[in-house]
Amino acid sequence: MRLDVSKLKTNGDSEEFEFCESWEKLEFRGDILFFVEPVYFYGVATKKGNLIEVSGNVKTKLKTICYRCTDDAYVEVDVPFYEEYSNREDTTDDEVIRFEDDVIEFDDNIVATIVLYLPMKYLCREDCKGLCPVCGTNLNVSSCSCEKDDIDPRLSILKTLINQLDTDEKKEV
Ligand SMILES: [Zn+2]
Ligand SMILES: [Zn+2]
Repeated sequence: MRLDVSKLKTNGDSEEFEFCESWEKLEFRGDILFFVEPVYFYGVATKKGNLIEVSGNVKTKLKTICYRCTDDAYVEVDVPFYEEYSNREDTTDDEVIRFEDDVIEFDDNIVATIVLYLPMKYLCREDCKGLCPVCGTNLNVSSCSCEKDDIDPRLSILKTLINQLDTDEKKEV
């Protein structure tokens, strides 16, 4: 997605824009996220002194894998976009993004904006029950009769401690 800003000559000049493109996927923290809806990017570019200030919104929808049950997990993206651009060679401000000639290329900045707002873990649904660690049954779909209390001895120690704490608290009341 590229915007020709040659028309923005005087301070305060601005131009609205709107892009809609189909992208395939993005990779982030070892996960692959597929775009299942086009990337919709709209906003306004404004000349502010030596800078072109771009503010807008990025909307799309991504599909990846639920980290608990490996089913499909969807991420709705509807996030604000703000960047400052300059095509001057003497730009020293790290926050300002350089562009060549009169054309700003947004793709990398859009991806960077999207990943900024991605959740730490992707879930098929808020209350996903995950897979049974013993038999692998998807516990959202059916149940199994595995004795889960016996899986990990460290966990059962923790459980005893918690029970202990519970009883202690009750005694104090
Ligand atoms: Zn899940
Ligand atoms: Zn099981």
